[in-house]
Amino acid sequence: MILKDYIIIGGGISGLSAIKAIREEDKDCSVLWITDEDRLPYKRTQINKNIASGFEKDAFALIDHDWLVNNHIELLYDHVQGILTDSSEVSFAHRGHLKYKKLIVAIGNKPKGLGDCIVPEENKFDVYTARHVENIVRSGKKAQRYLVVGAGVEGVETASQLKKMGKDVVLVDRNKQVLKRYLNKKYSDFVIKSTKESGIELLLGVKEINFEEVGEGRYALVTEVGKMEFDVVIAATGYEPNISIAKEAGIACNRGILVNECLQTSSPDIYAAGDVAEHPDGIITGLWHAAEKQGYVAGKNAMGRNEVLTLKPFRMKTEVFGEFYFAVKPKGCEDRVVTEVKGPIERDIYIKDGKVCALLMKNDGDRAKIYQQALMEQWDLDKFHQEIPL
Ligand SMILES: Cc1cc2nc3c(=O)[nH]c(=O)nc-3n(C[C@H](O)[C@H](O)[C@H](O)COP(=O)(O)OP(=O)(O)OC[C@H]3O[C@@H](n4cnc5c(N)ncnc54)[C@H](O)[C@@H]3O)c2cc1C
Repeated sequence: MILKDYIIIGGGISGLSAIKAIREEDKDCSVLWITDEDRLPYKRTQINKNIASGFEKDAFALIDHDWLVNNHIELLYDHVQGILTDSSEVSFAHRGHLKYKKLIVAIGNKPKGLGDCIVPEENKFDVYTARHVENIVRSGKKAQRYLVVGAGVEGVETASQLKKMGKDVVLVDRNKQVLKRYLNKKYSDFVIKSTKESGIELLLGVKEINFEEVGEGRYALVTEVGKMEFDVVIAATGYEPNISIAKEAGIACNRGILVNECLQTSSPDIYAAGDVAEHPDGIITGLWHAAEKQGYVAGKNAMGRNEVLTLKPFRMKTEVFGEFYFAVKPKGCEDRVVTEVKGPIERDIYIKDGKVCALLMKNDGDRAKIYQQALMEQWDLDKFHQEIPL
C-alpha cells in the first residue's frame, strides 16, 4: 500500500496553510492534498460576493499548477470516505486505501440546508462551494423571483448580489436581527435599513418556514404573514462542522472535532484545523483568517513542533448595499463602550481593563487592517485614537 508522510484532507485555506507550514520545515517529504471539489482550491469568501458579475472557474484560485509542481505537492481530486486510525489509513469509494504517517483533517463545514423540503433540487441551492454559486448564477437566466432563507452574512451578501442582478428578492429569517452572529442590534438595524431601501423584501422573526406547491412546478413560502411565490430558493441557513468521517473513525467530537491547543485530536497522529475544529474553550471559529492560522499551527505541529494556538479576535468584514461593516462582536463583559461618529463613519469601541477588546464599525473600510491590528495587539484607547483618528 502506498505510504505518504503527510496527508491533508480538505482543499480549503486551512489545508493550504498546513501544507505551507510543512514545506517550511521540510522540502522533500511526501505530501498528498485531497479535495472533493471540482477545481483548484480557491478563496471561498469571494464566491457569493461575485454572483452578479459571475466568475471564471479558477478566478479565485489560491494556488496554480506551477505552485503544486514547484512545491512537490500531489493534489488528488477525490472524496475521503473514511479514516482508519488503527492502521493509519484513509479510504476512498473507488480508489482503495492510502497510508499516512500524519494526517491533517481540514474538511470545513457543511451547509445546514433546508432539511426536509418539498422544493426540488433544480429550484433549490446551497451557498457553500463555487459550484453551488455557479448554479445560482446560471439560474438567473430563467428565474426572476428569489427567496433567500437566512439573514446571516452569507444570506445578506447573496440577497444583495441577486438584487444587483435585477431580481425580486425576499429575505427571510427566524431571528429579528440580521447578521446576528456578528452584529448587535444597533448595527443590525443599519443593515436592515439599507436592505429594505434596496427593495429587498425582508421578513424577520418568522418562526416557521414552510413551502407549498402552488401549481405544477411552482412553489411558495408560507409564513404567518402570508404566501410568497418564488422561482428559486437559496438556503443560507448556516453551516455546521463536517464531523461525520471523524466521528465514524472514533475520533473525539462534540459540535466539531475536538482538538487540544496544539490542534491535535484524540488520535495522536491526526490534527484538525479550520472550521471543522472545536477548540478547548468550545469555540468553532468559522472565519477565513482563523482557519488560515489554525492550518499553519497544525502543519507545524504535525512536523514535530510544539506550537500553541492563540485565538486572536479575528474580524468579520462585509460590504453590502454600498456600506462597509467590520465586527469583532463584544462578549458582554466589557467595562465600557466609546461611540464615535464622523460623516458616514460610525464606530463603537469596547474597552476591557483599559484595552480595546471588541469593535463594531461602519464605513471605514480603507483602514480595516489597522483596526484589526488594534484588536490583535489590544491597544489602549489613547494609542487607538493616535493611530486611527476620526
Ligand atoms: C459563501 C461564504 C462566504 C464567506 N465569506 C467569508 C468572509 O467574508 N470572511 C470570512 O472571514 N469568512 C467567510 N466565510 C467563511 C470562510 O470561508 C471559512 O471560515 C473558511 O473557508 C474555512 O476554511 P477551512 O479550510 O476550514 O474549510 P473549507 O473552506 O470549508 O474547506 C474544506 C474543504 O474540504 C473539502 N472536503 C470536505 N470533506 C471532504 C472529504 N471527505 N474528502 C475530501 N475533501 C473534503 C470541502 O469540499 C472543502 O473544499 C465564508 C464562507 C462561505 C461559505
